[in-house]
Amino acid sequence: MTAYVYDFREGNKDLKDLLGGKGANLAEMTRMGLPVPAGFTITTEACRAYLRTGSMPAGLFAEVEEHLHLMQARMDKTLGDPRDPLLLSVRSGGKFSMPGMMETILDVGLTDTSVLGLAAQSGDPRFAWDSYRRLIQMFGKTVFGVPGEDFETELSAARAGAGATSDADLGVAGLQDLVQAYKKVFHAHTGRDFPQAPHEQLYLAIASVFHSWNAERAVLYRRQERIPHDLGTAVNVMAMVFGNRGADSGTGVAFTRDPATGRRGVYGDYLRNAQGEDVVAGIRNTVSLHDLAEIDPPSYRQLLSIMERLEQRYRDLCDIEFTIENGKLWMLQTRVGKRTPAAAFVIAAQLVDEGTITLDEALQRVTGEQLAQLMFPSFDTTAAPQPLTTGVPASPGAAVGAIVFDSATAAAATAPVILVRRETNPDDLPGMIAAQGILTSRGGKTSHAAVVARGMGKTCVCGAEDLTIDTEAATVTVNGTVLHAGDIISLDGTTGQVYPGAVPVHPSPVVRYFEGELSPAGDPLLAAVQRLMAHADHTRRLGVHANADTAPDAARARRFGASGVGLCRTEHMFLGERRALVERLILAADDTERDAALAALLPLQRDDFVELFAAMDGLPVTVRLIDPPLHEFLPALEDLTAHVARAEALGQDPGRDGVLLAAVRRMHEANPMLGLRGVRLGLVIPGLFAMQVRAIAEAAALRVAAGGDPRPEIMVPLVGTVQELETVRNEAEAVLASIDGAPPIRIGTMIEVPRAALTAGEIAHAAEFFSFGTNDLTQMTWGFSRDDVEGAFFGRYLSLGIFAASPFETLDTGGVGELVRIAVERGRATRPDLTIGVCGEHGGDPASVRFFHHAGLDYVSCSPFRVPIARLEAGRAASAGTSTSDSR
Ligand code: PEP
Ligand code: MG
Repeated sequence: MTAYVYDFREGNKDLKDLLGGKGANLAEMTRMGLPVPAGFTITTEACRAYLRTGSMPAGLFAEVEEHLHLMQARMDKTLGDPRDPLLLSVRSGGKFSMPGMMETILDVGLTDTSVLGLAAQSGDPRFAWDSYRRLIQMFGKTVFGVPGEDFETELSAARAGAGATSDADLGVAGLQDLVQAYKKVFHAHTGRDFPQAPHEQLYLAIASVFHSWNAERAVLYRRQERIPHDLGTAVNVMAMVFGNRGADSGTGVAFTRDPATGRRGVYGDYLRNAQGEDVVAGIRNTVSLHDLAEIDPPSYRQLLSIMERLEQRYRDLCDIEFTIENGKLWMLQTRVGKRTPAAAFVIAAQLVDEGTITLDEALQRVTGEQLAQLMFPSFDTTAAPQPLTTGVPASPGAAVGAIVFDSATAAAATAPVILVRRETNPDDLPGMIAAQGILTSRGGKTSHAAVVARGMGKTCVCGAEDLTIDTEAATVTVNGTVLHAGDIISLDGTTGQVYPGAVPVHPSPVVRYFEGELSPAGDPLLAAVQRLMAHADHTRRLGVHANADTAPDAARARRFGASGVGLCRTEHMFLGERRALVERLILAADDTERDAALAALLPLQRDDFVELFAAMDGLPVTVRLIDPPLHEFLPALEDLTAHVARAEALGQDPGRDGVLLAAVRRMHEANPMLGLRGVRLGLVIPGLFAMQVRAIAEAAALRVAAGGDPRPEIMVPLVGTVQELETVRNEAEAVLASIDGAPPIRIGTMIEVPRAALTAGEIAHAAEFFSFGTNDLTQMTWGFSRDDVEGAFFGRYLSLGIFAASPFETLDTGGVGELVRIAVERGRATRPDLTIGVCGEHGGDPASVRFFHHAGLDYVSCSPFRVPIARLEAGRAASAGTSTSDSR
């Protein structure tokens, strides 16, 4: 029979699939002998069964009762006992952390009678009645959907009635009245009394945690974080311990290293005389963990030693939640902690230095996405005005945008916005996703805003206490300055500074390091990046080339570590002043006119290649023959039609515009992307490809003559059948044979038409290399117009969960990837030494790079800026499988 319930003493940290992250880690801490309250975990499997059928799986009740029984015996307390009741916390916890997205219910087990027991046993009736009103509120909201404001209204009324300024000033009588008022609110919304059977409370709480897996915000968060929707959540039922039992009690969260910078040394927030939810929600301001050394030295020392043991056990940065109840420390949670991209690199390198992990493991602790974030620009503070205020630097980055005060407006905005809130809660998620940055006036580095923003890599400044936010009036006042919705502000997530207006941004130090402008010596982040990149380069099997059309781009790519140009798109060389020559070519009435136009283009094209080959001296440069439909080089049909109509209306001769209009009409295609482009163009316009081949070979000969080492390759686009390639190849070989002094030049093809992938075995007879054009291959495999679909309906597809990511960004491995695998296999079967690369956008996408590694490609080619990301991911792909840490 399936076990649906595990005691904390039965599990361990490797059972995350079954027990969720929180449950597995509670079990691990229990095994380590750490002070964890007694409890048990209901498995994700039970949740899946519940969500599938709508009812608790058979046997679950019996198992829960059995474990509850054991727990009662261990705690020497009984649920609902009118003298000394056991109280429970009921918490969600999926395989991957989803901060604040699902439900938690505390103080389960309090009733009209057991509250008296708690009051008598604790000797603190105020505490007992406060716990009871918290339960009714949390239970009402979570299990029965009672609007939170209705409870808040009663709380404000109770405060006003008692002349109290805060909840803490409400006395026992006030809280007893509040409980009665809350029960009325509960009844008004649910049509029933607040449940007085503790077991009923428990089962309703468990069911509502199961349900919360599918809450809208949880679904949205999973989509954003690419967490599968079918995992389900576990439920952790644990004996309550209380941080709100007076001055010798409190609650806190802590990290074993600084999650923002990676600096060594414990780091965290502590809140005296409070429950855990108060810290995470950022509702009240906290003190630094270091202050605990003064407040409660024994607990502080015990906490430090526990944190050290946890780091050793998890071999990574851990974060923890703890509570101190009357001077006794309890561990409520731990996990491998989330961190900023900079901290990820710094900590990975530190752990290698400390001998905790290997360099291979360190590579698994960082990602290409994190490196990409480190390459974002930051503020040029020399050009910044006086900051308005400084808050807590919770998540780094430089964000500029217009102030919005609510999530819905942020989500609907079309221009960049900054979401400004007193504090955020999980309902703000859509706005947080849409905003450039998040600014709050309450809460520390572990508040909801901070944790979620860091997870998303979004700039966040929180706890800026000088801000007075008036959402009704849509204003924020800071040190005498009043800002309105729509005003531009700039947030520096690295320093916590908030500036009026748009502050200019400057390049990231990591980019400057790649450019060779900054030395890593003495800078922990740059040193860590250097070290991990060196190991990635040493480990990776995939080459990394760049898509670069100009010598400056190629030079930059080279500085960023590219070992070749994988795609030079020659069409960009036909724009600007040269457009007139292309027009002459297109409009040529006969061979003589066409040859003259080609002859005029030849030297210009040759000069382009000379420069490019010089910048990439000694490295391969794959030059693609012209690809897009020629009419793209002519003026737009609408403009020409208007010009000609105007001239005719004025009785004038439209002249050249008339000729151009006729040509544009003649060449007009309903589906140009599927029309006369790529190799088809080369076969239809005599001499066009030959001119390009000549320019490449002559440029190479010139570079050789100048003492250089040019290594050009010629790539034919959009081939669908080997006959096309053979025809172009014969023509190209004839041209190459006529030119002296050039090095050998290989001829290959792009694989970007599904038919080419399927017939790769035949095509390989005529190709010395393949390069997957995954942009077109995605377009043609899905039948998605590259130019239209992303704006038209991809947003909807993403929100429906049909896509986890756009297939134009991350390779669709199931469809397009399958064609890649087929082409690799069939191409190599014909020509075992076939070189195979990819030059579509996917060549710089981290997940896709890993796919290409496993598909056996020789290299990926991507934009110069993404070259370091591809190098890192190629290294990670090659060294994968050695680490188990996952801080997601
Ligand atoms: C491709 O199709 O993936 C490709 C690299 O070519 P382009 O984007 O120029 O069509
Ligand atoms: Mg293409």
